[in-house]
Amino acid sequence: MSGPLRIIEKEYRGMGEIGKRAVKVIAKLTGELLERHDKIKIMHVCGTHEDTVTRFGLRNLMPKGLQLVAGPGCPVCVTPASVIDSAIELAKEGVRIFTYGDLYRVPGNKESLSSAKSSYGCDVKIVYGFKDAINSFDGKESVFLGVGFETTAPTTAAMIVRGKVPKAMSLLSAYRLTAPGLDHAMLLHKERGIPLKGVIAPGHVSSIIGAKAWSYLADHYGLPVVVAGFEPLDYVLAVLEILRQIKEGDARLVNEYRRVVTWDGNVKAWNYVMKAFSVVDAYWRGIGVLKNSGLNLRREFSPLDAVKKYSLSLRDKQNDLPTGCRCAEITLGLAVPTDCLHFNKSCTTSHPLGPCMVSREGTCNVWARHGGYGLINELLEEMNLEKGRYNR
Ligand code: SF4
Repeated sequence: MSGPLRIIEKEYRGMGEIGKRAVKVIAKLTGELLERHDKIKIMHVCGTHEDTVTRFGLRNLMPKGLQLVAGPGCPVCVTPASVIDSAIELAKEGVRIFTYGDLYRVPGNKESLSSAKSSYGCDVKIVYGFKDAINSFDGKESVFLGVGFETTAPTTAAMIVRGKVPKAMSLLSAYRLTAPGLDHAMLLHKERGIPLKGVIAPGHVSSIIGAKAWSYLADHYGLPVVVAGFEPLDYVLAVLEILRQIKEGDARLVNEYRRVVTWDGNVKAWNYVMKAFSVVDAYWRGIGVLKNSGLNLRREFSPLDAVKKYSLSLRDKQNDLPTGCRCAEITLGLAVPTDCLHFNKSCTTSHPLGPCMVSREGTCNVWARHGGYGLINELLEEMNLEKGRYNR
């Protein structure tokens, strides 16, 4: 293994000496800060960050009073049920639907594309992206159901702008932008009395839109913000940096993930997105309409827009989550999976009820696969150790 890879493996993933020291400093800084603050709440936006935190047990390493909150980092979780319903309607009419593997299993208002395929023999194909769908195209009338954040939109946009889409194929766009989701979550946390004290910005999204996209959090909201990578040490260093800034009364944007993310991001990729799509107000499942949070095809690409081509009426209704499902609150960091009565009982990774249990970026799925506070508490109680230490 080469030098840089060894460092990543040992220090970043294995939380070597630097990680251990960082955790000690975090404990010390938190202790000092809690003399002035009731609680320190830091939100990460990316589902992959939640995976790192839960998989590597990073919450266990954090001192009491320091809360790591998962934010709106799962695009599949916020894809409106009406979009899935419309895709199913088209499939029942004989149109082939191409989409991603995780969306395939997400229930709409009544059923999922997966159940429509098994119940009615609908033609639904799982692909890695729009390019893959176009490569598999055989002339049959087809729709690509595109979901995702800033990371997945560019490849779709590039195919559209470069004129690579066959005539019989169209796009049903459910792309969303991360910042409006984060802003909405920040507002709700503030309204509920415990505002966020810092933000860990998503590494993958930032590789496209650039670290600079998050500077508004520091400039306008006065929040420390760190663009972080996905190894445990990346995350721990981001927490440390935020705590340092809080202590110093500072609010800056720091790019911890410079090995991947640049200040400007991938300008070429983002230009494709801006050429293909207009930014529009869009509905987020269970959450509501967020201003400037969605991507619709521009007028010049109307012939490729499935909504126009098939006169789809996407009737979004606020209550489009299964009864009792708390995905909306979980996506906004206002609840955790163990707050849901269905979690790991009537809703599991093999039989998911709500979207957060389907996608590997959904917090319920992450907690079900790697455990969360609930499992840790149960274990501590069984061992007669500190009861409830890891409560939020
Ligand atoms: S456990 Fe299932 S039902 Fe409950 S919030 Fe998560 S996805 Fe929804």
